[in-house]
Amino acid sequence: MNASIELSIVVPAYNEEGNLKRLYTEIIKVLNKQLSYEVIFVDDGSSDRTWEIINNLNHKDKRVTGLRFSRNFGHQYALFAGLSVSNGDAVITMDADLQHPPEVIHKMVSDWRKGFKIVKTIRKDNMKTSFLKKTTSRLFYKTFSLLSGVDLSSGMADFRLLDRQVVNKIIQNREVSLFLRGLIEWVGYDSCVIGYTSNDRYAGKTKYSLIKMLKFAWTGITSFSTIPLRMSIVLGLLSSFYAFYRLGYAYYIKVYTHDAVPGWASIIGVLSLLFGILFILLGIIGEYIGRILIQVQGRDRYIISDKIES
Ligand code: UDP
Ligand code: MG
Repeated sequence: MNASIELSIVVPAYNEEGNLKRLYTEIIKVLNKQLSYEVIFVDDGSSDRTWEIINNLNHKDKRVTGLRFSRNFGHQYALFAGLSVSNGDAVITMDADLQHPPEVIHKMVSDWRKGFKIVKTIRKDNMKTSFLKKTTSRLFYKTFSLLSGVDLSSGMADFRLLDRQVVNKIIQNREVSLFLRGLIEWVGYDSCVIGYTSNDRYAGKTKYSLIKMLKFAWTGITSFSTIPLRMSIVLGLLSSFYAFYRLGYAYYIKVYTHDAVPGWASIIGVLSLLFGILFILLGIIGEYIGRILIQVQGRDRYIISDKIES
């Protein structure tokens, strides 16, 4: 471990060939001569020239290092792998597409020097942020905070500074369902928040489709909360009460009145309601059991196929 490095910058990159050089230049511009640093690119199984570009950057500047995954394992694992090999007294994680403006690094470092162990950032929504992104993101953070009791604010992405002490805690984590945003709230420590206006993606397209975002949100919720399971119980109870009520009512009609009609419609209605709820509950339980299975299998969370060291 190189004790002389003050700052590590970890950048996950999945098919970001058009961005890395530019990002590197911007980072260098901001950091030059200010402090000692390393830039760690994690190639998350790219199929374009991303790895080649990381190699080129390393030839020019030994402060650039890299990891390459054997396939696409996902943004959260790329961040985790980068944190695991970082040497700095503080580590900044940021996206490769220049949406996280490197100029903010100064402020992050100065807040860290004031003693904050975690410097978070929050994206100020601008006109450019798409309506869909804004609403889905707000909705997710509200639901997440409500369900998990871990307070996340909307617009908080994986752009942040972590002190070495926090990094060492985070990388001990063995969870397969990695959701760093939640984990970072969970560990605690003194933290502060900086606002920034996000840029447009410099080159390429977003790697987060709506489906991928929903999956990510579901991972976040299920790895931090068992409330969906408890909600199942409540739903189950409510529907059982309703079913009992219907049964009692049917009994009353049959015994005390003479207008008992063959009520197929209502029977089928109640049945399908109950079955519907039952399947949802089974699905939720299955989801958690699936996560237990994956965790118990204990496979590697990611595989590093190549490494560039300084
Ligand atoms: N990323 C990654 N692996 C993935 C998807 C994304 O390493 O499977 C990286 C990507 O290269 C970028 C960051 O994660 O540096 C954020 O992705 P993106 O900019 O596509 O997400 P958005 O900003 O659109 O939410
Ligand atoms: Mg982006």
